Amino acid sequence: MKNCSKCGAEWRLVKAGVSKKTGKPYKAFYACDSCNNKMPAESLTEKPQKDLRYDQIMTKLDAIENGIGDILAELVKPKDNL
Ligand SMILES: [Zn+2]
Repeated sequence: MKNCSKCGAEWRLVKAGVSKKTGKPYKAFYACDSCNNKMPAESLTEKPQKDLRYDQIMTKLDAIENGIGDILAELVKPKDNL
C-alpha cells in the first residue's frame, strides 16, 4: 500500500530524526499531505520472514539432483565389463 488509506493520495516518506517539538527521536514514517494521515514506515518496508525450511529443502533438492545425475551418468556409461 503506497497510498494514504484515508484519501488515496501518495504517501510522503518522512525520514527518522529527532522531533524539534519534544526533542525525542522518532522512526521514519509516511505522511499524507492531503489529510495529515500518518503511518509507520515499517509497515510498508517490513520484510517477510525468511523461511529456513526453504534453504533446507533446496539443499536436499540439490543433493537429490546430484544423486540422479550420478545414477544417470552410471547408466549411460559404456558397459565395457560385459
Ligand atoms: Zn490522506
